[in-house]
Amino acid sequence: MLQQTLVLVKPDGVQRGLIGEIIKRFEQRGLKIIGLKLVKVEEDTAKKHYTEDISQRRGEKVRENLLKFISLGPVVAIAIEGVDAIENVRKLVGDTESKNALPGTIRGDFSHVSFNYAKEKGTVVKNVVHASSSLEEAKRELGIWFSLDEIHDYKRVEEEHIF
Ligand code: ADP
Repeated sequence: MLQQTLVLVKPDGVQRGLIGEIIKRFEQRGLKIIGLKLVKVEEDTAKKHYTEDISQRRGEKVRENLLKFISLGPVVAIAIEGVDAIENVRKLVGDTESKNALPGTIRGDFSHVSFNYAKEKGTVVKNVVHASSSLEEAKRELGIWFSLDEIHDYKRVEEEHIF
């Protein structure tokens, strides 16, 4: 099924100069970039993105730290389209806890710390990227970061070899 999903290069990824490296990985897999921008994260946007759901799943402190962290600098918002794009992108991104992220994934290649370490430091696991984890989440998150006219429809030249 053709799907659209949202990726954010988080402030750590932007400040480490990893924007190009990250975009490259999605492009080389044949996934299509259909929206792209560098965005200063306002508190309101951060709260819409990381909802109360995070507090329930991960704890109130994690959400608090996340809201601080995501606002530390601009993020790159990327809208991506492809067959089963949500699962495909999550696979390229890797496990949430960097310590468990497999080498070859973005998180596994560029980060390594554990939840415990982050907790001791009073911060979040800086795992370079965010990616939507379900169809519902993807729709909701794309709506936060992109307006309809910022999502583009075009053909990649090698499409007949990908689809
Ligand atoms: P994902 O980003 O993989 O979808 P979550 O939505 O559960 O994962 O969490 C959002 C982000 O919060 C994670 O990417 C990570 O940066 C951070 N995080 C989640 N749980 C913890 C935790 N227990 N300790 C520190 N940071 C965490």
